[in-house]
Amino acid sequence: MNKMNILNHLTIPSPLTQVKTSWSIAAGIELWLKRDDLIHPIISGNKWRKLSGIFEDYNREDYNGIITFGGAYSNHLVATAASCAIMELPCIGMIRGEEPKEWNPVLKLCKLYGMKLQFISREEYKRTNRQEGIKDNRLYIPEGGASKLGMVGCADILNEIDLTNVSKIFVACGTGTTIAGMATYLEKSENNHTKLYGIQVLKGERYIANDIKKQYDITSVHIYDEFHGGGYAKTNEELISFIKEFTRETGVLLDPIYTGKLMLAIKKLVERKEISGERIVAIHTGGLTGWFGKVSDL
Ligand SMILES: *Cc1c(COP(=O)(O)O)cnc(C)c1O
Repeated sequence: MNKMNILNHLTIPSPLTQVKTSWSIAAGIELWLKRDDLIHPIISGNKWRKLSGIFEDYNREDYNGIITFGGAYSNHLVATAASCAIMELPCIGMIRGEEPKEWNPVLKLCKLYGMKLQFISREEYKRTNRQEGIKDNRLYIPEGGASKLGMVGCADILNEIDLTNVSKIFVACGTGTTIAGMATYLEKSENNHTKLYGIQVLKGERYIANDIKKQYDITSVHIYDEFHGGGYAKTNEELISFIKEFTRETGVLLDPIYTGKLMLAIKKLVERKEISGERIVAIHTGGLTGWFGKVSDL
């Protein structure tokens, strides 16, 4: 099977839907969600976009298996496992750190899809996790799909949206690969009325802004670095009650690690009056398997 066949299992283009919350109505904003979470229940939104850019570039005849890298709760790992099952491709997941006594639900799901898991030391992981390309008939995909090709695949997110009256677009950032792809698309288009904003979900002053400038020479986006809520994958009372309220009001479930923080940040920017009376789009990048380790926080 090849990439064309996997597309029969995915919802591409993903829907664009308007949602109404008490705070968006009060501020007179039109809030639209790009539903990349609906691309596939397990092949999470932007992780598919990145894989797609990578699959696009390598000739399917040149490899007969995939090797990739991730932490024990990686959305990328499980997206790759499910993609490989659909494409009937053997795959190996190299997992950072010692094998846990009890596998968590993400690792079990990877195995369910047929991925073989190998646990490697943090040192070895650090040394190897950035590999990309074909070696010994295996296609290596770097951790999180974070690469130039992964970045290019993310341009499709915006290519699918009519941006005519959209003033602002918001997306959650971990490595910055997704926003870099979106920014590249905007820079190439004739569009100069739509601004792109990133919400950094990890602690670290300006690190994404610096990274995407260094790696991809992107300076056209604004990254907010103050909405991480305590750090990567950390939750708190405010975030959890916001997610509950948002889900109740819109029927759209957010994940606790990326899109929950994204939407809470947008609400705070609305309260700060940095957004008002305009049409904005937030990218729902998926990540709902993020709840596997966190349902007890609800
Ligand atoms: C990985 C991930 C992101 C972050 O993407 P980057 O390209 O690393 O910035 C955002 N949202 C979800 C749901 C993710 O799984």
